[in-house]
Amino acid sequence: MKQEKIRIRYCGRFAPSPSGPLHFGSIVTAVGSFLEACTQGGKWLVRIEDVDVTRIRPGMDSLILRTLENHGFVWTGEVVYQHCRIEAYRAALDDLCARKHVYECLCSRKEMGLWPVNSEGEPVYPGICRHKGLNSAAGSTRRLNVQDAVISFCDATYGIQVSELAREAGDFVLQRKDGLYAYQLAVVVDDDWQQITHVVRGSDLLTSTGRQIFLQKALDFPVPAYRHLPVVLNSFGKKLSKQNLAQPVEPKRESQTLCRALSFLGQDPPDELGRARVEDVWTWARSNWNPSRIPLYKQARFP
Ligand code: GLU
Repeated sequence: MKQEKIRIRYCGRFAPSPSGPLHFGSIVTAVGSFLEACTQGGKWLVRIEDVDVTRIRPGMDSLILRTLENHGFVWTGEVVYQHCRIEAYRAALDDLCARKHVYECLCSRKEMGLWPVNSEGEPVYPGICRHKGLNSAAGSTRRLNVQDAVISFCDATYGIQVSELAREAGDFVLQRKDGLYAYQLAVVVDDDWQQITHVVRGSDLLTSTGRQIFLQKALDFPVPAYRHLPVVLNSFGKKLSKQNLAQPVEPKRESQTLCRALSFLGQDPPDELGRARVEDVWTWARSNWNPSRIPLYKQARFP
């Protein structure tokens, strides 16, 4: 019999990858996720998403944590590192294999150019190896068979979302050729293990959510609530990201950065708050946070 897990009322998280220092866009996400947790009397956890060791930059995890502390963020418990969670990802993948959701794929990266692409221009695997019954071999990729699943969920900011997995993602990768576990698997296993009830993150991950809900259902995990936030674009119209070397947030201007993040999230803090102490910014933010004022666009530049 399936055992229902009992969850606490609100547990949120912030899950940066240590591939670079925090930029303004990361602070926006952290502010939104932290304020949602605080104002709902919940916990807020920090998880360092270093499952993809090829993208880590040494020392970035401690820099990120220091930047969060300097901005007055306070988290519950120890920071979790994904590189310490490999056994849990292996167990989840074994479980999915036992349930016949996974298959081995020997297609090469070169062949990717022949696959269809989704609305974001990402290749969608057309299931070439799905029925080949390949045995696991060195150099094979492990993929999740999504069949014709259609996942719908209600995002707290953007409303009802419908995700046709075969068209948008195809049979996506759970374990890469080099043995590394994929983000989609790691995030689902960790959100469950940490008993996350509410995921608040950038809208660039809205299209990953259908895949994650599909995995949660396949693993019998409860599905958390999701709220996505608009992402910040640079002057070229590209999302600020650690990989495209977005400028780190400036030290010693924490209150100003927090106020800019609050404005980006539609909260309209008074001008003088940018010159106040970090604690005062948080006091204002906690008592004035109104998620219904978060803009409904998915991305925007910010002066
Ligand atoms: N690690 C991801 C990032 O830094 C966030 C993943 C998530 O919040 O699910 O963009």
